[in-house]
Amino acid sequence: MIAQLDNSSISELKGIVDSAGWSDDPEVIAPHLSEWRGLFSGSTPIMLMPDTTEEVAAIMRCCNGRGIGIVPQGGNTGLAGGAIPHSRPDAPEILLSASRLNRIRAVDAENFTLTAEAGCVLATLQQAAAAADRLFPLSLSAEGSCQIGGNISTNAGGTNVLRYGNARELVLGLEVVLPNGRVFDGLRGLRKDNTGYDLKQLFIGAEGTLGFITAAVCKLFPLSRSTATALLAVDGPRSAVDLFARAQLNLGDELTAIEIFPRLALEMVLAHIDGCRDPLDKAWDWYLLIEIAGAREQADTDLNLTGFLDDCLERGVVHDGVIAQSGSQRADLWRLRHSISEAQRLAGASIKNDISVPVARVAQFIDEATRYAAERLPGVRPVPFGHLGDGNIHFNLSQPEAMASQDFLDLWGEITAGIDTIAVQLGGSFSAEHGIGALKTGELVRLRSDVELGLMRAIKQAIDPHGIMNPGKVIER
Ligand SMILES: Cc1cc2nc3c(=O)[nH]c(=O)nc-3n(C[C@H](O)[C@H](O)[C@H](O)COP(=O)(O)OP(=O)(O)OC[C@H]3O[C@@H](n4cnc5c(N)ncnc54)[C@H](O)[C@@H]3O)c2cc1C
Repeated sequence: MIAQLDNSSISELKGIVDSAGWSDDPEVIAPHLSEWRGLFSGSTPIMLMPDTTEEVAAIMRCCNGRGIGIVPQGGNTGLAGGAIPHSRPDAPEILLSASRLNRIRAVDAENFTLTAEAGCVLATLQQAAAAADRLFPLSLSAEGSCQIGGNISTNAGGTNVLRYGNARELVLGLEVVLPNGRVFDGLRGLRKDNTGYDLKQLFIGAEGTLGFITAAVCKLFPLSRSTATALLAVDGPRSAVDLFARAQLNLGDELTAIEIFPRLALEMVLAHIDGCRDPLDKAWDWYLLIEIAGAREQADTDLNLTGFLDDCLERGVVHDGVIAQSGSQRADLWRLRHSISEAQRLAGASIKNDISVPVARVAQFIDEATRYAAERLPGVRPVPFGHLGDGNIHFNLSQPEAMASQDFLDLWGEITAGIDTIAVQLGGSFSAEHGIGALKTGELVRLRSDVELGLMRAIKQAIDPHGIMNPGKVIER
């Protein structure tokens, strides 16, 4: 049971941080109380912005002793409502922002590691790595505002998972403040460490329900010496999967990204995002963005991609395409892909489905889900796009043009359940990279086994027995 947040608790919490470390000004707090798409909104009497691990620990001790709910927040770009407090006058929750924990503590170029505090913006990590002639490969459209603590807490994926893995695979060590205020100092930069349970993994993807991440040791990689990027026109998901299989065999681990999107996605980007243009002369039904990168000279990498694409053209797997001739052309191609979420948001209401299936079943999933959506809601406009190489399709549906947005959004639960079921029946997942948050708690209970739910509840009970961490998110004890 979460307790009231009375005046004495608020005074104690304010006293833990300096004057820049808290705010109860509604105008300052407002942007932190609704999420990117406006799907979730909430309230809080106070937002705390500690700037040391010790301050976080003191806040957690205070809240744990009084049963006060804590909602961790990073860049607030999450897409499952996990970072938004509830509006519960009987059990208000404090917002605990990582924004001032924003120091790069160390870059160890020899060890290929970087130690960063949780509130560092993802793009800052990428820049710090590049300054040391290293690559931090986590990359997603929200990288200019999401934070590494949020990335780790959601086990973020993005466009480079194919080659480098998702956040879980990029973290070697973590520093986490537990609900009781004790600090788990696991900031080790080791590639090998078989000393019992891998505790850090519990907090990766936990969406702030088990503790507050304050810092992480992240893996770095050699910067690629050369990159080649192409946008290709293909018939549809089936030929895209075929091309992907060929690409893996022919290009090996130089293949870093393969993204798919339909014509409608490109049309939305062209209509709503300034400065974007269609790089091909003709309209095609489906597009693939493919990128390879490696340690070779640029000319060799170009030759590698061109040779592969010539072969695909000859076999009729690819109909048309363009290869970026410069860094700015490459950025333009990626901009088309990275702008899809934003363009779809500007194009009206949309229902988002972040699913994954085994790569071989991507085409079957898109066929079945498209059929289901069209039968359930004639006129709905599917925009299935995403990380083909990970079998991760954002099966997003844009509202029928003539329908009122709210009437469409009211169908979210029902339509999403239908699509989740299709994904799970094909051996897939109903949340590939966006997590559970507040959005999918019901689906977790519906679609995961009793054994899995029991284990998750036992972990939550063991680490957070008073249930103060992100109450009501992911799983109830
Ligand atoms: C345009 C756009 C594109 C996106 N593309 C992708 C994509 O390709 N791949 C992908 O995986 N995601 C994507 N996302 C989703 C989002 O960017 C990621 O989930 C990101 O990792 C969230 O980071 P954040 O700092 O914004 O976290 P927030 O939204 O602030 O928080 C997310 C969750 O983590 C918890 N949390 C945050 N910080 C901490 C901390 N320090 N300790 C403990 N818990 C914490 C919060 O309580 C919440 O449950 C996209 C989002 C947008 C808006």
